[in-house]
Amino acid sequence: MQTFRGPVGAGALGRTLIHEHVFVGSTELDVNHPHPEWDEDRAVALAARQLTELYRLGVRTVVDLTVLGLGRDVARVARVAQQVPVHLVASTGYYTADVLPPFFGTHGPGRLVGGPDPLVEFFVGDIEVGIAGTGVRAGMLKVVTDAPGITDDVARVMTAAAVASRQTGVPITTHSRPDLRNGLDQQAFLRAAGVDLSRVVIGHCGDSEDLPYLRSLMDAGSTIGMDRFGMEHVLPDERRVAVVLELLRLGYADRMVLSHDAATFSRVTPPSWRAAHAPHWRFETIPRRIVPMLLDGGASPEEIERMLVTNPARILVPA
Ligand SMILES: [Zn+2]
Repeated sequence: MQTFRGPVGAGALGRTLIHEHVFVGSTELDVNHPHPEWDEDRAVALAARQLTELYRLGVRTVVDLTVLGLGRDVARVARVAQQVPVHLVASTGYYTADVLPPFFGTHGPGRLVGGPDPLVEFFVGDIEVGIAGTGVRAGMLKVVTDAPGITDDVARVMTAAAVASRQTGVPITTHSRPDLRNGLDQQAFLRAAGVDLSRVVIGHCGDSEDLPYLRSLMDAGSTIGMDRFGMEHVLPDERRVAVVLELLRLGYADRMVLSHDAATFSRVTPPSWRAAHAPHWRFETIPRRIVPMLLDGGASPEEIERMLVTNPARILVPA
């Protein structure tokens, strides 16, 4: 398994948060109109403190799903990784709900400038060679579908991710909209592109209380991301926990992973907004708050370990 500090064995991953962000930005905005709450040195120090605290709380691995389109800067995250005891995992992919930047309109087979699809080259290079000259290799792929559906450019990203996943064995996670039940569309698309659905995590399923939908995703072979604990402005944690407990009762312990989709700094919802409106949306919520709630509700310690240790390791480490 590739991490910011090189390869580690599956057995060393330990408790893993499989869908998080260290920093979320917007590279062009950050260059031209820096966010008033952003200070790089302070942000790096804060991230290092939060991730060190997470280690103290028993978490050993954090997957940073900040891909292209979300201000990925692996060199900056590497500054954090050098200071913290948790394993950080980088990812590749493209975050767009609708269209890609104009560069992609002119590059690729049959386009004005031509050449092979740069998305495939970027994804495979990030996984096999390393990201932006850092030597840090990606351990997960991410794709997005949202309200616009599988647009031409979203299909292009998903196709490239499928090619990269098949070629490298690296798993795919998705950003989905469970209220639109579009994880089913993601599964159909990826299956048709030759991806084994057991290598796919349908993300953001924790936003949903639609049990038949969630069960159908898992019955088709995927793992679902109960990955937004602390995002109580979307769904309160008590209700997120109740869904996990019900699915455990139905026998799905081996098909769920737990995470927050939190960030130590996000330009989308900056620290001042989060402090006022989403105080639990932070890395420590699962170990401090959610695990005790699950245990109180009847989950067994063994089920907790499956969702936090066994399932992430099975997904992250290519067979
Ligand atoms: Zn995310």
